[in-house]
Amino acid sequence: MHVVKIGGAANVDVDAACADVAALVREGERLVLVHGGSDAATRLGEALGHPPRFVTSPSGHTSRLTDERTLEIFVMATAALNRRIVSGLQARGVDAFGLSGIDGRALRARRKEAIRVVEDGRVRLVRDDWTGTPESANAVLLGSLLDAGHTPVLAPIGMGAGGEALNVDGDRAAALVAAALRARSLVLLTAVPGLLRAFPDEGSLVRRLAADEIEDAIEWAGGRMKKKVLAAREALAGGVERVVIAGSGGSRPLRDALDGGGTHIEAARTVRGGARSPRDAGR
Ligand code: ADP
Repeated sequence: MHVVKIGGAANVDVDAACADVAALVREGERLVLVHGGSDAATRLGEALGHPPRFVTSPSGHTSRLTDERTLEIFVMATAALNRRIVSGLQARGVDAFGLSGIDGRALRARRKEAIRVVEDGRVRLVRDDWTGTPESANAVLLGSLLDAGHTPVLAPIGMGAGGEALNVDGDRAAALVAAALRARSLVLLTAVPGLLRAFPDEGSLVRRLAADEIEDAIEWAGGRMKKKVLAAREALAGGVERVVIAGSGGSRPLRDALDGGGTHIEAARTVRGGARSPRDAGR
């Protein structure tokens, strides 16, 4: 089985992704989808007079500052996108089941007590923030949905210790889900064709990234691509065989990614006598 994250950027073609996902599911592939929602949340926030503010952490990660109103907007925007994906799959004959991390405790997250942000070259602590770090995915729930013939579609909302909804990073959520379900691959479909050595030059696509090159890539990848490489590291550490970061364009983005397109990052394997570990059997 594969876990597929559909990016939330403006230029990600959700319909093409749905069509491709539907074709694979109809062929018998077991898939779990996770989606983003950044662009939808930005647009809704602007429409509601509460535009987003983005902050950068001391390590260079950019994130949305999520005060209570922004969280509310994020929940609304991701719920609408979730319905759009579920509906797009249902229209193509796939029995998709939409949920967020608070439904059935699908995805637990730890709320960040305070986040450190860099402003004007100085580090400041922000406490009114409702973002979380994904901590555990409910493999029993997702597995039983799959067994019942559904294709789960998970919104990037985690559940905090007190049952509260938290804005979580979709890539890291997908990595955790992939590890919990022992997925063979995690595919991150995004607006760019993959990890680019010299962003934005698409000719500089990194086709293969070895496991021992990940740490370096986390350093040199910019913007939100950093989080994707970080998510790749987490997924591989959790036992996922390969992570693919690939473009969401074209008519068959998922199939192309599984067939070798985009950036493939594979787990460093200790092969003894050519045999693979027994847990790979049947995946
Ligand atoms: P999504 O919404 O799919 O989760 P984003 O678009 O937010 O993803 O994140 C990927 C973005 O990272 C790209 O669109 C690109 O602007 C940026 N980026 C920065 N550095 C790189 C790089 N080296 N390779 C690819 N993308 C990069």
